[in-house]
Amino acid sequence: MEDIEIAQENEANKIQTITAVAGDIGLDPTDIEQYGPYKAKITTSALERLRQRPQGKLVLVTAINPTPAGEGKSTVAVGLADAMHRKGQKAVLALREPSLGPVMGMKGGATGGGYAQVVPMADINLHFTGDMHALTSAVNTLAALIDNHLQQGNALHIDPRRIQWKRVLDINDRALRHVTVGLGGPTSGVPREDGFDITVASELMAVLCLAEDLGDLKERIARIVIAYTYGREPVTVEMLGVTGAITMLLKDAIKPNLVQTLEHTPVLIHGGPFANIAHGCNSVVATRTALALGDIAITEAGFGADLGAEKFLDIKAPVLGKTPDAAVVVATLRALKYNGGVALKDLQTSNLDAIRTGFANLERHIHNLQRYGLPVVVAINAFATDDPAETQLVQDLCADQGVKAVPATVWADGGAGGVELAEAVTEALSATEPFKPLYPQEMPVEDKIQTVVQGIYGGRDVEYARKAQLALKTIKANGWDRLPICIAKTQYSFSDDPKLLGAPTDFTIHVSDIIPKIGAGFLVVMTGTVLTMPGLPKHPAANDIDIDAQGHITGLF
Ligand code: ADP
Repeated sequence: MEDIEIAQENEANKIQTITAVAGDIGLDPTDIEQYGPYKAKITTSALERLRQRPQGKLVLVTAINPTPAGEGKSTVAVGLADAMHRKGQKAVLALREPSLGPVMGMKGGATGGGYAQVVPMADINLHFTGDMHALTSAVNTLAALIDNHLQQGNALHIDPRRIQWKRVLDINDRALRHVTVGLGGPTSGVPREDGFDITVASELMAVLCLAEDLGDLKERIARIVIAYTYGREPVTVEMLGVTGAITMLLKDAIKPNLVQTLEHTPVLIHGGPFANIAHGCNSVVATRTALALGDIAITEAGFGADLGAEKFLDIKAPVLGKTPDAAVVVATLRALKYNGGVALKDLQTSNLDAIRTGFANLERHIHNLQRYGLPVVVAINAFATDDPAETQLVQDLCADQGVKAVPATVWADGGAGGVELAEAVTEALSATEPFKPLYPQEMPVEDKIQTVVQGIYGGRDVEYARKAQLALKTIKANGWDRLPICIAKTQYSFSDDPKLLGAPTDFTIHVSDIIPKIGAGFLVVMTGTVLTMPGLPKHPAANDIDIDAQGHITGLF
């Protein structure tokens, strides 16, 4: 059955009202703003009250380097929370909001899959509570204000060739990567080269996700560098005088959204920055709220642990003021074989040797997370076609490393398929090793990059293109070098070459540029080619999606 069919069947029979879900975690009807019967935002006053509460334990769900299909982090996170919920533990999930780009393109949504899903599935994957649209409007309003500033005399001396702020759409639209705006003569603006990003790759999405509250959101927006002057001085939103207007557009988007799993476990879905170009985690506000509402908060970070988890630990955790108490690394037999050199079309065939070779990838992720002091549990996301001998081999290889690997059949069985995993994670939560950060903030930028490349990726050297060297000078001259780094890199490899699978060593990372994101509070280190506006594939998911005259949707994954 398709994910949408399972969701529809269960939504019709079992979905609870959002007031009931809220009630289960101690929220009154006045603590939520309802968007129909099944979705709500949590009010500002409830958020403020919850900030005074003691925090629960935090579980970070991450993964090995994936195949292009995704390895089921969201699915496992949902199933794990449902399994804990079944056992009577107070578990609250905090996940990312889906982007419409991948929904219509290739990868699918972000609400889990099979019987481990968040509902109402179609709503969440489409327009939800409008956060993505609010962000798109805010980014484009700022872009329009910048162009208007040029038109009205350019008092700030903005160099039109050095405007950093791009327009966005929540669509995969490669035709908009490079555009020329302002054509049509003096009444239609100042002509300049521009381009569109996808909304989830915008700095404003990262800002929303790292802001602690509306006040902090405003301060971060004020700091965003939108351009440089002819004299190469940074120009901020504050200098343009529009901080208040842009913040106002996000007054509701800053509030986390409450929904439920198929098994009525409460879920906060809020914020969804890309995990390659940005930090790839849901919002600080939502994670903090989940920590206040539950004894156990379960959250995920995008792509493999080299991207999402590293950024969670080095960028988000310091803002959150809380580090994870355990990490779950999701692995699939297919991704292990893929990392062991098997072609995509042969991944269903049993191959113990390839599992052994590909295990090097999982092993490096395990050691990386242990390096931060985190207890690690491996979740083997089980597929119907899995060979039990392969699963056993993964468990044995993990046991050799002193790590528990637990098969989870949550996709097929919901929470019932995650009971053993829940037990292993609960046990891991009682370990108490202190958290060890990877690098101190005051470390020079090049050393931070070198530390991540050697300590997490397993590489040897870093090479800087001329543009990156110039960017480093600007960063130092402006005193931005104390900020954490956010490396933009392919999700398929520890290196910057998507074809270098497994656990490569001795490679060089090529830094093409370093982009300061002062509002978000990190420096984006560009490596390889990382797209900020994806394209659609030859056969987009859109070709399989339909809706009938009664509003019944089919083909949404
Ligand atoms: P990630 O969070 O790692 O990107 P998801 O949890 O979103 O991955 O899963 C990606 C897709 O794979 C979803 O459409 C989901 O239904 C499917 N999927 C995940 N786990 C399984 C499984 N065990 N069996 C079959 N399909 C699965």
